[in-house]
Amino acid sequence: MEGIFLIMTLNEERLIQLNTAEVRQGPVVYWMIRDQRVKDNWAMLFAQEQAMRIKSPLVVVFCLVPSFLSAAERNYGFMLKGLAEVSRTLSSLGIAFELLEGAPRKVLPGYLKKLGAGSLVTDFDPLRIKRQWKEEVSKSIVIPFYEADAHNIVPCRRASLKQEFGAYTIRPKILKALPEFLTPFPRMRKHPFPFRGRTASPDRIKELQERIAGRTSDEVGGLKSGEDASIQHLRNFLRRRFDNYSQDRNNPCRNGQSGLSPYLHFGQLSAQRVALEVADSAAPKLSRDAFLEELIIRRELSDNFCFYNPNYDSFDGFPAWARKTLHEHRGDKRQYHYSLKQFEQATTHDDLWNAAQSEMVITGKMHGYMRMYWAKKILEWTGSPEEALQNAIYLNDKYSLDGRDPNGYAGIAWSVGGVHDRAWGERPIFGKIRYMSYNGCKSKFNVKAYIEKVNRL
Ligand SMILES: Cc1cc2nc3c(=O)[nH]c(=O)nc-3n(C[C@H](O)[C@H](O)[C@H](O)COP(=O)(O)OP(=O)(O)OC[C@H]3O[C@@H](n4cnc5c(N)ncnc54)[C@H](O)[C@@H]3O)c2cc1C
Repeated sequence: MEGIFLIMTLNEERLIQLNTAEVRQGPVVYWMIRDQRVKDNWAMLFAQEQAMRIKSPLVVVFCLVPSFLSAAERNYGFMLKGLAEVSRTLSSLGIAFELLEGAPRKVLPGYLKKLGAGSLVTDFDPLRIKRQWKEEVSKSIVIPFYEADAHNIVPCRRASLKQEFGAYTIRPKILKALPEFLTPFPRMRKHPFPFRGRTASPDRIKELQERIAGRTSDEVGGLKSGEDASIQHLRNFLRRRFDNYSQDRNNPCRNGQSGLSPYLHFGQLSAQRVALEVADSAAPKLSRDAFLEELIIRRELSDNFCFYNPNYDSFDGFPAWARKTLHEHRGDKRQYHYSLKQFEQATTHDDLWNAAQSEMVITGKMHGYMRMYWAKKILEWTGSPEEALQNAIYLNDKYSLDGRDPNGYAGIAWSVGGVHDRAWGERPIFGKIRYMSYNGCKSKFNVKAYIEKVNRL
């Protein structure tokens, strides 16, 4: 049996055991959290390999937590559609899928016990709440508990052992390790040891989708959810728009970015798959390099920030120079001062800012360039940097399909608190934090055309 099935290509450095329990007989359970896909998923591949080794069924479990980091109905709608597809694909491979409702510590240990599970596998996520879930579950189980980094190309723990200062310090480490980790994926195989119990059917997921996600379960911003749709989206981008990525990506009037972030955030698409297809593309080198810098270096730098900085979403997480300069400018007069409600309703004096906020609310995604301007203006028009940070996180997490992501916490901390950036010339409110202005935007792109584009949405 081993000779046939154990052609495992998982690099062991992707994997850690979160407890010291010994392997047991019984179904292997993959607790899917961040990587909500069947294909190209190292955690799923490892779980299947474990199950093959002991000739046991494989069961994939998802714990649906009804309230999660300001996630709105739109996010649940997108996620549940993707999970319905996961459940169908798994079923065609002879793998069971179970959807449990409730906090993992309350629902998962009991479920594992009832099932007689032999081991538990999960995926990697640097966010505090997910780490807490795992710690709580780990304390209540007696079976081996493994975690595989299925999100980063170079596993977060391997890329660096500490919080990095910026892209310039993590880049050489990632580039050095990349050839070892940027390898092709093996396929998931039909599982020969079926699970005999009852599990969640796609109908039940549909019913939940209607109940939890309600009216907004229609596609937000026209983006179709799911693993198949994500691959289609990637291939369309590579075929039609990728050649011009290096010129167009920073122009909010153009459709120059890939639009892949919601798929990457929900793990419906593997960044490693994207990188492999980009490497095969015949697009100009400038576009390939610019895109891989964002997809690999910047994205994995965000995971590094959240993994090693427990204050990734608070003022204390900013570098010392940034905290000092923001403190020194706390008392500076604000020409405009808006409440969270005014921001949320896009009723500031600034038509460009309002357009960016509206773009996010209507489409579930704000253009990447506007995100920087948007967050910096929240700092400028709020009573304190702490309040600005919380407002920006709240709005981003609530309205962006790709929100509640390390990229969001790092991007906001960059804009408001100089994380991964350097000190710039000193000015009111911002101190030495990099500033952005309306006129600066005007010199980079056609501000009026962008506002009109959003108004037409
Ligand atoms: C204030 C602020 C908030 C942000 N919030 C989020 C968020 O909630 N979720 C999110 O995924 N990204 C966030 N970003 C980062 C970036 O703006 C988005 O990843 C990007 O705009 C997503 O669009 P795209 O997929 O079309 O990007 P593309 O330009 O096509 O890039 C491809 C992929 O590379 C990665 N990437 C691109 N830019 C960055 C970046 N600056 N940092 C890290 N990874 C990057 C993303 O995974 C993206 O999907 C934020 C940035 C700022 C300044």
